[in-house]
Amino acid sequence: MKTADAAGTSRPEFAIPARIPSFIHGQAALCEAGYDIPVINPATEETISHLREADAAQVDAAVRSARDAFEHGPWPRMDVDQRKDVLYGIRDILRANSAELGYLETMNTGLTLANIERHIERMAKNFEFFAEVISTVSGETYTQDSRYLTYVTRQPKGVGAMIAPWNAPLALASMRVVTCIAFGNTCVLKPSEYTPLSIYRMVELMHEAGLPPGVVNLVNGRGAVTGTSLVSHPEIDMVGFTGGTETGKAIMSAAGKALKPAILELGGKSANIIFASADLERALDGALTGIFANNGQQCLAGSRILVQKTIAEEFMQRFAERARNIRVGDPFDSATEIGPLCYRGHMERVLSYAEIARADGARVLVGGERAPGFDRGLYVLPTAVHAPSNRSRVAQEEIFGPFATFLSFDTTDEAISIANDSNFGLVAYVWSDDLPTVMRCSRDIRAGTVWVNTPMMRELRAPFGGFKESGIGRDGMNDSLHFFTEAKTTTIPLTDIPVGSFGRG
Ligand code: NAD
Repeated sequence: MKTADAAGTSRPEFAIPARIPSFIHGQAALCEAGYDIPVINPATEETISHLREADAAQVDAAVRSARDAFEHGPWPRMDVDQRKDVLYGIRDILRANSAELGYLETMNTGLTLANIERHIERMAKNFEFFAEVISTVSGETYTQDSRYLTYVTRQPKGVGAMIAPWNAPLALASMRVVTCIAFGNTCVLKPSEYTPLSIYRMVELMHEAGLPPGVVNLVNGRGAVTGTSLVSHPEIDMVGFTGGTETGKAIMSAAGKALKPAILELGGKSANIIFASADLERALDGALTGIFANNGQQCLAGSRILVQKTIAEEFMQRFAERARNIRVGDPFDSATEIGPLCYRGHMERVLSYAEIARADGARVLVGGERAPGFDRGLYVLPTAVHAPSNRSRVAQEEIFGPFATFLSFDTTDEAISIANDSNFGLVAYVWSDDLPTVMRCSRDIRAGTVWVNTPMMRELRAPFGGFKESGIGRDGMNDSLHFFTEAKTTTIPLTDIPVGSFGRG
């Protein structure tokens, strides 16, 4: 580990509100009798603000605002061009305020500022992309019986409950929100209680850009209080959730009881398969990026690294050398590659897997403990272990930190079988210059996305989501359209066709 040089630190300063309320019908809404949750800077563990939790009554007010905006407001009835203009306006205002958003998100997540700058651009692109998608939406016509014209239109579904996690707050909450509202729906957003800072500002800015009140309401609070009140509210028409698999199951059950459709983007334990036929320099860079980007806290991490036996030992040694060289430190320092983990309970959980690995007979290749040299902050050393089998807990459970699990294999069949031996199926990475090997992996690996010789290229038009316990449904151009709209079929006779003769005698 290298400690980042403080000389590279450029810490902008923006005001942090002392208390973060909810935001309902276009204005701040502070729950009177609410419960306050400390908001922490993980680089120091200092309390930098307090979140005022929304209770069931406040969630009800937020849902009613969204319902009112859907039933009576301009948003669902606007011409597409007008709605597009608002979405482009949101893109522009978010970009114009990127320094402030970057500061708030870095202060609250511990992700490096350089990383957050990419998230902010992704957030802006999410609004731009869905503005473009809605321009392409068209209907269908059918004339199977030539005496009738049948046409199909797509209409917004209603009010969405949109729930987001803490690991990339702006990028992921903006995706949840825009997939819903672009098609004319309204929503209530509940971000993670750990990372409310930047999201509150994002929602304020969306309104400054001309979003009508009630289209996006924000409720802040814990999942068990604010989240459950939101998902089970009778006026919610659909649920969009990005977060952990166990939470996803609870949300799906609650939504299912009221027959509400849910799109779930959940966890992963994705295989990163490195064949001897790969460009090994590129694969090494890809393996390190796949597990250590975003402080290792990402659903699509390549956290199970499967290496062909003939090259495994050398590859693992080189990986460990590079991991030892990673600069852990202040997330505002431009030299830092990994910042602190998001909150103490999470850091302790990540570290507990080093003990679990040792107890399971795994070899710790590098790391496995807190990073030395910090008198405060939630810093963890980049870690890699060589697991004795794919059945080990470190090979099966999502750790969600800078923690790589290595496994080795002999044949392509074996690699695919290990890759598929998981409850998850979000993404897979394949490194090989041998076309038949690549094609076999692409066909047979049970994952929503397969990246070949490249890590984490996100094509927004294409579906993104998981097989198995990694999720239900997909984000993407056509998939979001289908989830967030209802198809309506209308049939009209083209001539004067008799409709029956009941009671004519
Ligand atoms: P989490 O499931 O603990 O929480 C996610 C959100 O759900 C938070 O806002 C939380 O308050 C809320 N919540 C918790 N219980 C709830 C309930 N019963 N009802 C309603 N809301 C509830 O997840 P997390 O720790 O914030 O995020 C990490 C997880 O998210 C990881 O598993 C990661 O893989 C997953 N993730 C998936 C994707 C994807 O696109 N597939 C993207 C990012 C993160």
